[in-house]
Amino acid sequence: MEKTLIIMDFDNTLVDVDVDWEIVKHFLPEIAKSLPDDFYDKNDWLKFMQENYIEMKKRGFNINDINNFISSFPLTYNIKDLCIYLGKNKNKFYNIILSGSTEHNIRTILRANNIENCFDEIICNKSILDQEKILKLIPIGYEHNCKDCNKNQCKTFIYNQFLKNKFNKVIFICDGSNDLCLSKRLKNNDILFARTEYKLYNYLIEHSNQNEVNCSIQFWNNGKEICNRLKYQ
Ligand SMILES: [Zn+2]
Repeated sequence: MEKTLIIMDFDNTLVDVDVDWEIVKHFLPEIAKSLPDDFYDKNDWLKFMQENYIEMKKRGFNINDINNFISSFPLTYNIKDLCIYLGKNKNKFYNIILSGSTEHNIRTILRANNIENCFDEIICNKSILDQEKILKLIPIGYEHNCKDCNKNQCKTFIYNQFLKNKFNKVIFICDGSNDLCLSKRLKNNDILFARTEYKLYNYLIEHSNQNEVNCSIQFWNNGKEICNRLKYQ
């Protein structure tokens, strides 16, 4: 039996916050307050976060402070049960996290919740600790030319490079406006789970008469709803 590819977003989907944004607000509050609303759309987010990690080190915060802070972030309601279900059914599902967030932070949060092993692969910006124990960010897929996506990441570019044509069916669980690009490229047979009341949902509702997305669309509020639906796949 061919496996179904599960692509799960991380920020605001698996974890119920935007991790980078919470880090900036907590450790560098005056920088967070100074950003205009359209900052993410117009700037190189990864470069911005790299500068923030250097600044945090200058102010005396170390990697343990970051780890302790992010380990306490809440997961989205019931999403842990969904991850455990997917992890127990790897004979049916190939489970990937696809995120513009950073590997160190993602793995720290997964580990804190004992769900790291549920996933077969985590595709995201890589990171290493340098000699000064500052997180050095290494972009993945920076060379994309997609006009719809932030320089930080185009999920379609990554999908085409690493995942395309390897699976019969794709299930994409996400929430954000940066998930729209890949959503548009999914096929009839695939399923998009868009989180209710979040940016992708709002976009889909506003553009519902334009048929931009070919796959079936389901809206979700919590992990249990997704899990119940996956059991019938
Ligand atoms: Zn794109």
